[in-house]
Amino acid sequence: MMKQWTNSDISAAETLRLIAEHSIDVIAQVSDDMRFRYISPSSERLFQRSVEDVIGRHISEFVVPEDLAIIAAARQDVLRQAVDNTTVTVRVIRGDGKIIWVEVASRLIATAPDGAPGDRAVIMRDISDRKALEDELRSMAMRDGLTGLANRRAFDEGLESQWQRTSAEKSQMSLLLIDIDHFKEFNDTNGHQVGDDCLRSVGAALQSSLAGSGGLLARYGGDELAIVLGDADSRSAALTAERARAAVEALEIPHGATTSGVITISLGAATAFARDGGSVAMPHALLASADRALYMAKEAGRNCCRTTLLFAKTASG
Ligand code: GH3
Ligand code: MG
Repeated sequence: MMKQWTNSDISAAETLRLIAEHSIDVIAQVSDDMRFRYISPSSERLFQRSVEDVIGRHISEFVVPEDLAIIAAARQDVLRQAVDNTTVTVRVIRGDGKIIWVEVASRLIATAPDGAPGDRAVIMRDISDRKALEDELRSMAMRDGLTGLANRRAFDEGLESQWQRTSAEKSQMSLLLIDIDHFKEFNDTNGHQVGDDCLRSVGAALQSSLAGSGGLLARYGGDELAIVLGDADSRSAALTAERARAAVEALEIPHGATTSGVITISLGAATAFARDGGSVAMPHALLASADRALYMAKEAGRNCCRTTLLFAKTASG
């Protein structure tokens, strides 16, 4: 008859040794003052650090300084007895200097006689690959597939957060709405593929015209693009707009339907002052205002910029 194996056939110590040596995780015991009392030999593989290298040392020697606050907050949660286990993600400095993302699951395993928290059992796992994939997915979700620029979603978020900053500082910001002139005809004449190439070139030219200015360039939709300019007054918005206009014209992409014979853009600029008691709601009003200015630029003959101003309500105003 076949022997029925049970857990008790391997000694507890042997089991622990096997787990500690071969686990894909690093298992540790950490004292309440955050020093390593025990670390499994898998530390060698995952962290490029020998057991002797780690024992007795404080966790702050291994975690990226900016992330220590995350661990401190988790420890506070345990101290306040809000929870007895926590999972956080922090960056760890490996023995070879490489920084990796590590998920740290920690559980209280001992309490001192006076009730104070004692040691914790900690399980650490390298999640750098997962983190890189998540970052890539997040960035893909925010990028326009054709031009590689920020997409509408990224634009909406950028505009909203810029307005929050402007409102809090009671300062000003500007928005440029940009539309390619007679682009439908360009497509009709040259085909959609050439139209796509043109959109990509216009995007790249606009991006380099912004170099160093900190403006957020996004594809707003179709042949429309937008630039969010933090802390920019009307004059600075007009200067940025002129640089953008000139950069696209300088591409010299032939286009029979425009006055200058090349691809050009029209721009509408809107500048908002955040003031208590201002009269319009943001950031919607900024968009509407820039859209009106863009319409005026088209009416004025295209390949130019028109500007508008508005006083916007702050959150408190
Ligand atoms: P206007 O000067 O008044 O802006 O004239 P327009 O012909 O550019 O008019 P409008 O901006 O309304 O037309 C946008 C055109 O952009 C329609 C469509 O042919 C083209 N378009 C929109 N998205 C794409 C795209 O992803 N690729 C290509 N190739 N063309 C696009
Ligand atoms: Mg157009």
